[in-house]
Amino acid sequence: MQYQRSSSLFKEAQAVIPGGVNSPVRAFKSVGGTPIFVERAKGAYLYDADGNKLIDYISSWGPMILGHAFTPVIDAVKQRADKGTSFGMPTALETEIANLALEMVPNMDKIRFVNSGTEACMSAVRLARGASGKEKIIKFAGCYHGHSDAFLIQAGSGAITFGSPSSPGVTKGTAQDTLLAPYNNIEAVEQLFQEYPDEIAAIIIEPVAGNMGCIPPAEGFLDGLRKLCDQFGSYLIFDEVMTGFRLAKGGAQELLGVKADIVTFGKVIGGGLPVGAFAASEEIMSHLAPEGPVYQAGTLSGNPLAMAAGLAMLQALNSDDALFDRMAKKTERLHKGLDSVLKDAGLPYQINRLGSMISVHFTEVAVTNFESAAHGDNDRFKKYFHGMLEQGIYLPPSAFESYFLNDALSNSDIDQTVEALAVIVKKL
Ligand SMILES: *Cc1c(COP(=O)(O)O)cnc(C)c1O
Repeated sequence: MQYQRSSSLFKEAQAVIPGGVNSPVRAFKSVGGTPIFVERAKGAYLYDADGNKLIDYISSWGPMILGHAFTPVIDAVKQRADKGTSFGMPTALETEIANLALEMVPNMDKIRFVNSGTEACMSAVRLARGASGKEKIIKFAGCYHGHSDAFLIQAGSGAITFGSPSSPGVTKGTAQDTLLAPYNNIEAVEQLFQEYPDEIAAIIIEPVAGNMGCIPPAEGFLDGLRKLCDQFGSYLIFDEVMTGFRLAKGGAQELLGVKADIVTFGKVIGGGLPVGAFAASEEIMSHLAPEGPVYQAGTLSGNPLAMAAGLAMLQALNSDDALFDRMAKKTERLHKGLDSVLKDAGLPYQINRLGSMISVHFTEVAVTNFESAAHGDNDRFKKYFHGMLEQGIYLPPSAFESYFLNDALSNSDIDQTVEALAVIVKKL
C-alpha cells in the first residue's frame, strides 16, 4: 500500500498542529510510521487519502458501533442542521434523549449531557465530592478517564497509596487527592479505605477496562468495590464511556449485574458527534446546579446536532434486541480465528475479550492489570500492527487499546482479517 498523500498531509499538519494531531494516539508514536489520513468511511471500511480501503477495528474508538456513516444518524443530523445548530436555550430533543437513555440504563433517575467523556468524568468526580463532602478519589492504574488533572496520576515511587502527576502541569496538590490501586486487586482498595476511612469521596473505574487493552474485571472484584463503597459511605462511579451502550443496552451495569452510584458516558452516546453524559439517582443529581450548589455548565452542552445524532443512535440500538449478542458472536469469531493462527505459530500471546471488545497481547502472562499489560512485547506489537495495516486491516495503533468491533463487519471481513494474520505471522 502507498501512503504518500498521508505522509505529506502529516507534514503539513505538523507545521501548524502540535505533533500533527488533535489527540495524541492518532500520531502513531507507539507503533512508529506515518498516521493515516482518512478521507471518508462507510460501514466497516475506511477510505484513506491515498485511496486505500481498510477494514476498521477502532470504529472511531467506539462511537461507530453500527458502522460508519450509519444512515439514520446521518439523516437525523442533516434534518436537524436546517433548523439551526445551536441556541443556548433548551430544546425538547434533550428531554427526548434523556428519557431514552434513562430507560436503557439501569438504576439511574437523571442525566446531564456534556461535550466529551473527559468532561463527564471530571463532572462526576466533582459531584461525588460535592455530595459527600469528601475530597479523595481512588482510581486504578491503567484506567483512563479523560485528560482532566485528577486522572493524570500514576503510582508514586515506592507506595501504591500515593499518586504522583503523570503529566507536567498537574500539581502535586491534585495528585495527593487521587489514590491509586492496581486493577483487579481488591486488597489494595481495602488497604486504601483502612488508611483513609473518612476521606474517600468515590472510586472511579472502567468496569471493563479498555485503555490497557481489554481487561475484564475478575470474578467478584466489582462486587467487592460496591461493598466497600457502601461500608465507607463512598460513591461508586462506573466510567462507561467505552462500555455504555456497547456491552449491552444498559452497559456494564446490566451485563455484569453490579449497580453504580454515578455512571459516565461518551463515545456511543453521541453517535459520532461530541457528546458525554453522566447519570445518577435523583438524590445525587439534586446536588447539581441549578438545583444544588455543585457547579457544572456548558455553552454547547445538549447541542441539537449532537443530541439528534445521539438520539438516532440510541433508538437504533434500543430497537435491535439481537444486536449485542450478534456483535459478541462476531468478536468470538475473530478471537477463535486469531487464536488458531497464533497458536500454530508458537508465539507467546494472550487474547482478552468481552462483548465486542477484544485485544491481543504478546506476552506469556495473563493480562489482568496494567503491570501485566505492560509486559507485552511492544516490538512484536509494532510488527503486528504494521503487518496487518499492509494487509488492509486497521487495528488500534497502540498495544494499550482495545479493538471496538462494529455491527457492519461481516463474517467475511473477520475471516479476511484472520487470513491477513496468517500471511504475516511468520514475520512477527
Ligand atoms: C475515551 C474515554 C474517556 C474520555 O473521553 P473523551 O471524549 O475522549 O474526552 C474517558 N473514559 C474512558 C473509559 C474512555 O475510554
